[in-house]
Amino acid sequence: MRRFVPALVSAVLAAAALAAAAAAVTPGDAKTLLRVASRLSGLDVRRAVPVVSEPAKSFSARRLKLLDRLYPPSAQSYDDELYAALGLSTRTGTLRKALTTTQKQRVLYDPVARKAYVQAGKDERDAILHELVHALQDQHFDLRRVELLKGRRDASLAAAAAVEGHSTLVAGVLGAGHGGRSAVYRDAEGSATVLIALDWDTPRDAAQWEEAVQAYVNEAFDADRPGFPATTPCAAILCWQIGAHAIVFRRDGGRTALALGPSLAQAASLAVEIVPSG
Ligand SMILES: [Zn+2]
Repeated sequence: MRRFVPALVSAVLAAAALAAAAAAVTPGDAKTLLRVASRLSGLDVRRAVPVVSEPAKSFSARRLKLLDRLYPPSAQSYDDELYAALGLSTRTGTLRKALTTTQKQRVLYDPVARKAYVQAGKDERDAILHELVHALQDQHFDLRRVELLKGRRDASLAAAAAVEGHSTLVAGVLGAGHGGRSAVYRDAEGSATVLIALDWDTPRDAAQWEEAVQAYVNEAFDADRPGFPATTPCAAILCWQIGAHAIVFRRDGGRTALALGPSLAQAASLAVEIVPSG
């Protein structure tokens, strides 16, 4: 498998658009893409997801509104003053300017409207596929829960990384024909866990991926070690309970299993099941 550690990390941090230019996406294309997103992610389609095309101006206004919902202006002002006081920026207002100018995404999914939006005139098939995976995550896990974490900075960052990482793996790695498999499992009560198993060319690739995931999650938690108590029944090598999400990471030779679910025990048992220990 091609190494994608830098791609994973940058996608988690920046959620960059992936597509090349061609013709605009029709409603029929959007339907097909939703079916592809469902097949790759293992998440069945519960509702149709409208893909709305918007002129550049209204699209960027929407993008900014979504940013402000996840990172409220009051929190931005606080951070802006803090950075200036620490000497990280020369004057106040720098953060807002940086946030607005770095917004390059031309497709987004809004879990409140339950619609995907694309800037008109652009073909963003790969980016739409990524956003449709978010739509399916939303239909199964309710992504509005991530917004409820916004008062807790570390939990919020880490939950966003879980959601973003899953979509990036599905649309960017599995969708790009790198192999591996993604599946959804349900326990007797019907709660769902997503499991992604990836095959790597060498154990070294898998090890690098593991280090990158651990470093990122620890960074998000601002902790020296994964935020996971030793008493929790987790046989995998790395486990986190982050806000509404449990994440379990397991590696065996050249294979990696990453499970995301509502319960740590459920995610852990699935990761062990797909990657037998020893
Ligand atoms: Zn995303």
